[in-house]
Amino acid sequence: MVTMKSPREIHLMREAGRIVALAHRAVQPHIQPGANTRMLNQIIEQTILSLGATPSFKHYNGFPDASCISINEQVVHGIPSKGAILKGGDIVSIDIGAKYHGYHGDSAWSYACGELSANHLALLEGTRLCLFKGLEQAKAGNHLSDISHAIQTYAEQLGFSVVRDFVGHGIGAQLHEDPPIPNYGPPGRGIVLKPVMTLAIEPMINLGCKEVQVQKDGWTTITLDHQPSAHFEHTILITAEGYEILTQVEDKEE
Ligand code: MG
Ligand code: MG
Repeated sequence: MVTMKSPREIHLMREAGRIVALAHRAVQPHIQPGANTRMLNQIIEQTILSLGATPSFKHYNGFPDASCISINEQVVHGIPSKGAILKGGDIVSIDIGAKYHGYHGDSAWSYACGELSANHLALLEGTRLCLFKGLEQAKAGNHLSDISHAIQTYAEQLGFSVVRDFVGHGIGAQLHEDPPIPNYGPPGRGIVLKPVMTLAIEPMINLGCKEVQVQKDGWTTITLDHQPSAHFEHTILITAEGYEILTQVEDKEE
């Protein structure tokens, strides 16, 4: 069931989203060669806790940590670890969720560690643009799959492939609510979008083949061809005019 949010719920989701955005902002300067992903995770967890929220992912279905940090061919669900040490040229995808007074925000961002090669940079920038191509279709009256189709069309125009095994989702009192939101498919299908729905749109785009596999740890998911992947996600509110991004902060808050 797709839930419509009350003004109170929207207020709490704006706060949760702001906390997620502030956790991204706190960790970003530390994405440097030599940093390990356990240390990055600690910064994220401390930021979320200091702002009065809890990390949505910690113990979610047994996931051990506050954030997912996935490097290069790791697509999603990388487990932070002392042994995962960043090097220059890495794509570092960080997925963060925060729960504030019972409501979740969820946002992923892929970052460049040092200088990326030209094709890795193209993947990073292309995936970010895929998110915004999808968001352009996130407006009342459109069908859900108009978002999916816009993402797939743009990714494939760039010569990249769309991961099928993981999808976006509704979000609110639950981290993952209906509807599932694939990043591929024909337009004009699925529910009609209405104001006060809250959705997490999250393209996962691969430089090579679309197939992925889960590693032995049961979480970390990598591309089958070991080529890199990127992941961008925002939690949004559908409004009468279009959409409002909940997982961002205005620069004036700095
Ligand atoms: Mg996420
Ligand atoms: Mg999500």
